[in-house]
Amino acid sequence: MSTYKAPLNDMRFVLYDVLGAEREFARLGQADATRDVLDAVFDEAARFTETVLAPLNEIGDRVGCKFDKDTGAVTTPPGFKQAYAQFVEGGWTGLVSPVEFGGQGLPYTAGVPLKEMIDAANLAWGNFPLLSHGATDALLHHGEDWQREVFLKPLVDGTWTGTMCLTEPHCGTDLGLLKTRAAPNEDGSYAITGTKIFITAGEHDMTGNIIHLVLAKLPDAPAGSKGISLFIVPKFKVARDGTQGEANAVRCGSIEHKMGIHGSATCVLNFDGAQGYLIGQPNKGLMAMFTMMNTARLGVGVQGLGLSDRAWQNALRYSRERLQSRSLSGAKFPEKPADPIIVQPDVRRMLLTCKALVEGGRALSYHAGLQVDISELAPTPEERQQADALVGFLTPIVKACLTEWGMECTYNALQCFGGHGYIAEHGMEQLARDARITTLYEGTTGIQALDLLGRKILQLQGAGLKIFLGMITQFCDAESGNEGAAEFIGPLREKTAQWQQLTLQVGQRAMANPEEVGAASYDYLMYSGYVALAYWWARSAAAAHASTHSDAFKRAKLETARFYFARILPRTMTHASAMSSAASTLTALDEAAFDS
Ligand SMILES: Cc1cc2nc3c(=O)[nH]c(=O)nc-3n(C[C@H](O)[C@H](O)[C@H](O)COP(=O)(O)OP(=O)(O)OC[C@H]3O[C@@H](n4cnc5c(N)ncnc54)[C@H](O)[C@@H]3O)c2cc1C
Repeated sequence: MSTYKAPLNDMRFVLYDVLGAEREFARLGQADATRDVLDAVFDEAARFTETVLAPLNEIGDRVGCKFDKDTGAVTTPPGFKQAYAQFVEGGWTGLVSPVEFGGQGLPYTAGVPLKEMIDAANLAWGNFPLLSHGATDALLHHGEDWQREVFLKPLVDGTWTGTMCLTEPHCGTDLGLLKTRAAPNEDGSYAITGTKIFITAGEHDMTGNIIHLVLAKLPDAPAGSKGISLFIVPKFKVARDGTQGEANAVRCGSIEHKMGIHGSATCVLNFDGAQGYLIGQPNKGLMAMFTMMNTARLGVGVQGLGLSDRAWQNALRYSRERLQSRSLSGAKFPEKPADPIIVQPDVRRMLLTCKALVEGGRALSYHAGLQVDISELAPTPEERQQADALVGFLTPIVKACLTEWGMECTYNALQCFGGHGYIAEHGMEQLARDARITTLYEGTTGIQALDLLGRKILQLQGAGLKIFLGMITQFCDAESGNEGAAEFIGPLREKTAQWQQLTLQVGQRAMANPEEVGAASYDYLMYSGYVALAYWWARSAAAAHASTHSDAFKRAKLETARFYFARILPRTMTHASAMSSAASTLTALDEAAFDS
């Protein structure tokens, strides 16, 4: 079985030494978010995730969720329900939710390390509370007063959980195709009818009610994605005064049998005239849903990070213990029958790839989290706007790159185990299977790439990119004399210039041929992720050098940054070259000739 130890030292390094989060929280008026408070929160989160959630990861995979077709009920794996009760008891569900609705009001950023720990310990379990946050956000920003009053408190204190119901059998990426209907009732509510599939936590035994946020079309809705509205549809009806009533006309039809996350219930939900309430304006449901999806997308990026970290921790331990062959330069442990495999450069390549992607990805995603706080709490509208643009720009990068790297890290970590990684005993194949979903749900990597290049760069004139490039330039100017980072400044400046140039080139080609956007988007996204990570590695090396951390820690940061710049950043050359080739390299082949 794989084990998990929360990487508190590195989490704190990123938050306090790299991001200066404590200072930022004070500046943003978050007086309670002191280092003492946060450290105590993270210590307790580590204890909970290591001792309660992590041991349930394997049984969750092996037993999975069970569906009773006679009652439509879903039973979660042994221990999941009790762990959720402990989670609620500990007040974790409302850690970053507003105090006004019973939350603890800590900054959003403080929830990111908690989420990383949960996802690393038990991704499938983590999916049950995950979507309550998205539902809370959607209601906070778009709900009517009575809806906030009635639904937020139980979602925040964990008495109820939330879901996000978009997908239908014929409609995944293209929500304009959805068929679920909402007919007005005389009392101002709506009757929702249709089938949703793949709904995470759509049915379970952990809470007394489940609040579905459902996309549906009103009778007079315009065609396509402009005609979509958002509705609250509780599993058990909830009146406007908050009283919970009889079962609503929504029933789980089945659960999916999947490659991974067996402990997470992925449900078909049949709505048969179920009572629902409109959230926000008619036909503006996608906008409200996007509020929910943005935080969920950052959250899925962190799932990739958590799984990568757990996988690499186990690979490191195994590589130190497993004795095979001798070092190429002669025995390193002559007293043993063979050297541990960690002496082999190729094993180190895999371990360092994981370490570089995990620790760099941590800085990248925690920084995106901090921008969420700044976008809401900064003293001036200009600063809030800037941070908002940055969140929009960083979201597809965090979501897509951290999950793509999640697959790479879990596969590399499995590879370190040799054949022992492929068998179930060590738990490495579970991590690789669990990681696979993260590049698919909440918008596939392809869709994140289109969001980044098509929308955030070309449509919005690259507002977020300009701010990010400005941050890199400022860092390069300020730190060129920093002994811990000087060697990275030149390459970083080069990549910054190339990033601008490539953006201009793609933009020009896109004006002549829109296919160029789709043809360049994946490579543009990955290029962006690798350069962003180079920036975070240079900043990490600089921050480590200036910190009071141990010499070993500083050396590890410096050597990993060197590894990153020498062996991972060059991947940008392939991406730059691929995105610079014309769209015709993808479009020229006639569809009918693919299998000729
Ligand atoms: C375990 C699991 C849990 C899920 N949880 C939820 C949930 O809680 N709520 C919910 O509503 N949904 C959920 N989903 C659905 C998930 O979000 C969708 O599967 C995903 O959005 C992709 O939709 P699709 O499967 O229909 O693929 P499709 O949209 O059919 O896409 C197929 C392929 O075509 C590509 N593609 C499609 N359109 C374009 C385009 N315009 N440009 C470029 N490429 C394109 C995609 O990138 C993908 O590679 C879940 C799915 C799974 C498997």
